[in-house]
Amino acid sequence: MSGSSGWIGTRRVTGRVRAWTEEHAPGLRNWRRWASSAVLALIATLLICRISATLSPVEFGLLNRWFAVRPARQPSPEIVLVGIERGDTEAHEASRLDDCTCSAIPRRRLGAVIAAIKRAGASVIVLDLVLRHPCPVGVNEDDHREAHDAGLVEALETPGEVILAAGVNPNPDSTYFDRPAQAFVGELATQRIVASPLLHNPSGVIRGVGLIQTGAPSEMARALAAPLRLVGVTLAPLSMAAYAAHLGHACEIPEVVDRNHVSCAGARIPVWASSSIYLLEPFMPPPRDRKYTMFINWVGPPGTFPTYPISAILANDELAPDVLNTWLRNRIVIIGAVGERLNTPYLGTSRHKPDQVDQRGSVTMSGLEVHANAIDTVISRRFLEPLPPQAMWAIIFLCSLVTALAVRALNTWQAIVAMAATIGLVAFVAMHLVWLNIWLYSATPAASVVLCGLMTGLYSYARSREQTTALERQAVEREAATATIVHDLKQPLAAIGGLTSVMQMAQTHKELEHEEPELLERISRQVERALSDIDELLVANPDRELNLNVTRFDLLTLTRDLAVAQGAGSTIHEIEVHGPDEGVLIDGDFAYLARAISNLMDNAMKYWPDGGTVLVEAGALGDTALLRVLDQGMGISADNQPSIFDRYHRAVPEDSSIPGTGIGLYSVKRIVEAHGGDIEVDSELGRGSTFAIRLPLRQPLPQASTSEGLLP
Ligand code: ADP
Repeated sequence: MSGSSGWIGTRRVTGRVRAWTEEHAPGLRNWRRWASSAVLALIATLLICRISATLSPVEFGLLNRWFAVRPARQPSPEIVLVGIERGDTEAHEASRLDDCTCSAIPRRRLGAVIAAIKRAGASVIVLDLVLRHPCPVGVNEDDHREAHDAGLVEALETPGEVILAAGVNPNPDSTYFDRPAQAFVGELATQRIVASPLLHNPSGVIRGVGLIQTGAPSEMARALAAPLRLVGVTLAPLSMAAYAAHLGHACEIPEVVDRNHVSCAGARIPVWASSSIYLLEPFMPPPRDRKYTMFINWVGPPGTFPTYPISAILANDELAPDVLNTWLRNRIVIIGAVGERLNTPYLGTSRHKPDQVDQRGSVTMSGLEVHANAIDTVISRRFLEPLPPQAMWAIIFLCSLVTALAVRALNTWQAIVAMAATIGLVAFVAMHLVWLNIWLYSATPAASVVLCGLMTGLYSYARSREQTTALERQAVEREAATATIVHDLKQPLAAIGGLTSVMQMAQTHKELEHEEPELLERISRQVERALSDIDELLVANPDRELNLNVTRFDLLTLTRDLAVAQGAGSTIHEIEVHGPDEGVLIDGDFAYLARAISNLMDNAMKYWPDGGTVLVEAGALGDTALLRVLDQGMGISADNQPSIFDRYHRAVPEDSSIPGTGIGLYSVKRIVEAHGGDIEVDSELGRGSTFAIRLPLRQPLPQASTSEGLLP
């Protein structure tokens, strides 16, 4: 029941759409319009794909915005932040010169925090701090290290199956991997150490985290990493290292699966080329380097992850270890600065490059929170997957096609509304797909709508200009033709009028007896001439069908008779007819074909003002009759040849006095085609023309209409 009412409803809607289309956009029923719109849409798609890399800042601006307006989600409960706050670093700053110049906080204090976290039973400790220098730098290092580094080394050595993930720095000036590094990690045989030289994203792409460097590490990185006991041959980024460690892998190096995916510790992770994000790669040059970036699926604004200040950890370690246990047991603990929001590598890069998204706003996160989000993304497997390029092409093409059709089939305002609706729809869909962790680029289809709209507008304008010019030309030609036709029709009528007056006068004076038959004969000729002109007009009326009265007759005999009649009308021309002795027996409309052939003969003489012999050849080849009319007159320019068979079109020079209406050849073509034949012209300006007609020899004949070889 409900199914049939749904069906009726659908039919009603389709019916209305059809009615609306018929009334407002009848152009949509024209398949040519669809085809040319599809071509325009294709060009727009290719252009847009070509320039899509330049749209990246817009795309990422939109992505950033949509992430920002998305409500917070529950972060992974395993991730906890231990924050070094501004107070900690400021207090350290005061005594830094005497104490230690190389850490955000005194290393003793850092050591105490790590030890406390270990005691509380964390599963992984991620150190988002760059321990770049031995501490302190300068003379008497050994003495001082005892005082400064000892606490940290001791903390690292505290027993416990904790995995430490530490950030390291790949800068050439770094001394981290010298002796002090050995001191920190060299003896930690029981612990697995992971380290990352790729903490920051070199391109400054928003909210991306450097994920993997494919292939072996550079010589320098290898040399720098030598003192570390690393598992594997290359270095994992901190977030991935922490994730792998969390699953019990010592230092899983992500493997490249294809150009858009890597796999790490069993997770298949979508990646983007990090040096520049090319949106539609197949059309783009390949990325210059081979670094990839994972998009972090943002959990929420700053403060979303549980964050404990260092002071709270140390206080609870002494006073309430149970509390500390509930905070940290079996958790991934990330230690780093939470106050330094403007000084993370991400912000650092974006501040200097205005084309990249500035993250200094309320949603800005510290590097620590960025890592927390990255680890959360991998743990919860909420990867932001870009739509495959093929799907993007289809969307861009579809948007362009809709635009092209709208601009061509609707009026201006309707088209603008349709374009805006298309852009709005894409943006709306894109925004909602982010919820499903799918990234639909929306600036690209939007740009394609605009581009295709512009192209279609220009195309339509050019087409309508062309049509207007053609219509104007036709109007002029028709006017000239009408004037000639009126003149031609007036002549026999005037003659008839004159002859009738003569007869009337003569009758009055009773003088007409001898001349009467001759006068009547002349009147009848003029009537024939007028009727013939009218017939020509009727044949040239495209709305009037040509009803053939088919009989069988000899085309050669007809041609010879016409040549005699036509040739008699000129003193400077002759017409010679050649053909086979047995003649050319053909089925056709005798009167129409006679008209067509005499039109061609007439033209041959008319457009050969110097005079000469017009040659006419008739013959048969297989089941086709051939008739050619050759002259050596004015000829027709190559430009004009395609249009001489158009109605009203004349190809004579503007100042020519040769009379004509431009409907003769049109009539010939109609007659020939009505017989199932065709006509061609071969001509050269100044050298003459040849018109060739091909006609089928046989037609279906009406009963008893064979008048072989006879003229009716
Ligand atoms: P018109 O009444 O002008 O003769 P037609 O339809 O018979 O009209 O011919 C169209 C045009 O083709 C003519 O205006 C003329 O320019 C050109 N044309 C036709 N036949 C010939 C020919 N034999 N030689 C040169 N030009 C020709």
